[in-house]
Amino acid sequence: MPTILRLDPHVANLIAAGEVVERPASVVKELVENSIDAGARNISVELQNGGMTFLRITDNGCGMEREDAKTAFLRHATSKLRRKEDLEAIGTLGFRGEALAATAAVSKIDLLTRVEGDLEGTRLRLEAGKLLECEDAGCPVGTTIIVRDLFYNTPARMKFMKRDSVEGSAAAAAVGRQALAHPEISFRLIKDGELQLQTPGDGELLSAIYAVLGRQAAGEMIPVQSQWEKISVSGFVSRPTATRGTRSNQIFYVNHRLIRSKTLTAALEEAYRNQIMVGRFPSCVLNLTVPLSSVDVNVHPAKTEVKFLNEREIFDCVHYGVKGALSRASGQVAMQLPQEKPASQEPAPQPEAQRPAPAARAAAQTAGKPNEAFRSMTAAEFRKSAPSPVHTMTRWEYEQVSRALQKAPKVEPSQTMVDETFRKSAPTTLHSTVTMPAEEETQQMLDLPKAPDFRYVGEVLNTYIIVEQADEVLLIDKHAAHERINFERLMAQGTAILGQTLLTPRACRLDAEEAAVLLQNRDLLLSLGFDLDGIGEGDLLVRQIPSDVRESEAEATLSEIAGHLQSGRIDTPAGLREAALHTIACKAAIKGGWQTDPVELKRLAAEVLSRDDLKYCPHGRPICVVLTRRQLEKQFKRIT
Ligand code: ADP
Ligand code: MG
Repeated sequence: MPTILRLDPHVANLIAAGEVVERPASVVKELVENSIDAGARNISVELQNGGMTFLRITDNGCGMEREDAKTAFLRHATSKLRRKEDLEAIGTLGFRGEALAATAAVSKIDLLTRVEGDLEGTRLRLEAGKLLECEDAGCPVGTTIIVRDLFYNTPARMKFMKRDSVEGSAAAAAVGRQALAHPEISFRLIKDGELQLQTPGDGELLSAIYAVLGRQAAGEMIPVQSQWEKISVSGFVSRPTATRGTRSNQIFYVNHRLIRSKTLTAALEEAYRNQIMVGRFPSCVLNLTVPLSSVDVNVHPAKTEVKFLNEREIFDCVHYGVKGALSRASGQVAMQLPQEKPASQEPAPQPEAQRPAPAARAAAQTAGKPNEAFRSMTAAEFRKSAPSPVHTMTRWEYEQVSRALQKAPKVEPSQTMVDETFRKSAPTTLHSTVTMPAEEETQQMLDLPKAPDFRYVGEVLNTYIIVEQADEVLLIDKHAAHERINFERLMAQGTAILGQTLLTPRACRLDAEEAAVLLQNRDLLLSLGFDLDGIGEGDLLVRQIPSDVRESEAEATLSEIAGHLQSGRIDTPAGLREAALHTIACKAAIKGGWQTDPVELKRLAAEVLSRDDLKYCPHGRPICVVLTRRQLEKQFKRIT
């Protein structure tokens, strides 16, 4: 029989340390959490060599008395929990009493700490968890902890460390996330001697987002604030046009504790359904406030996962909160005009992280107003940061728009143009350029949806409808608008999409695999309005197609639907159906570049302006881009 012995406490600590302290980023997270729990208003984090050789966290929190400081490094030593009942409602970030012991076990530590009212502070020195020195020290109120040579005594763990730059980035990300959870605290991050991040600590989440995630991200955010019985959610989510290829900017907190949660991710993404492309992800910084007793935070050694008493309520609160925020937010995208300075004279754009805090504050204030947010960008910055769905006009496009605008009659801002005034005031050349049916006539003819006052100006590039409304010029992408309207109508048709029987069945030639996958899904296709049969490898005989789709588009539509079925990226029947409806909506829509009857265009514009569900095409491209009077006046140097 082998002899069973209790592990030496040092060995036990090393084992425990492995769970809590995985890499420098986890040390940073734990120590910063301690500073937050200590009530600090300023927290500064310094690291060298990715945090592997040197890590210093300084705070102006409550500090520790000497005896407490010594005890703090013992395992299960905590000031935050006393009785087992306390575990049921934990209001602090820490509670396990493990972080300091675990960190100390695998590094060399210097601690300086002083509490308010004490003349002298305390300095402690520890190595591998052993207290080597304890003495008086002069220091400010608060705590400074230096961690050197992490994992120096655990070579096995050391081997798992990645390059310093990777560890450093992970540690920096950990600071950023804590900073986003606590906008009321000013955070500083210094990496290898350089200031990388500074948050103003002004209590405004948007300022923190600006400092941590950058100006672009801050400008794309929509505020969320919603309450569901005892649960509330607040923070910011990205506009559907500002998606990313990864989920790395989906940041969730529960009672200001950073957590990962599949429920929250699903609730967020569900709110963006049909507004963004498959494979693209929204960003968010959301904090859920829930009663302390309705969440169990003690289910993970690093405390990054939690268990909710009622997952469904949490899901609904986030889902409806975000959905509501998206539907309230304007779908209009501000036109981004490049500045005119020649590139060579531009100052090099400052790295995001080094921007001083006052600038961050000022810009964050304007970031809430979409039309103001990008005004001060230089061309170089703009080019660097512009995501693909941003619409910049080329010089040529810009001239086309200006020309159309100059030709259009001048109106008082509040006055809608009626045809009579139009004729009187317009220069003679106008009639040959812009032909419009008389206003009243059109109104009767079309039974236009009741849109807020607007004036249809015309169309440019056979693609963009130009409309004037209040002090703004709106450019509407006719294809994107029509596609979205089609999609909403198809979705409203319920399970069976209206089909049209073709007078003569149409033979369509596709890839053999495409044809095969379509034939395997005949029921789905029937419900979409397609009736078809196989007539040999890759050849289909199509008898019926959705009534919106032109016969000439039948083949292309089927081929794209086959693509959805083959890709395997969408795995639910409902998801497949929606993807197919996107395709049908797109194929049935008028296309950019086509000649379109102005009456039709006017109807589209009225529809877009009167409905608030038409913000983005089903792939997340904007439908409407706004050019403000101010922007134009700036471009024409009427104002500076
Ligand atoms: P926990 O945070 O779970 O209590 P830790 O090992 O992280 O466990 O910390 C142990 C104790 O040390 C804390 O409960 C707290 O009283 C004290 N402490 C740690 N860091 C600080 C700090 N920066 N300022 C004041 N007290 C601290
Ligand atoms: Mg702690």
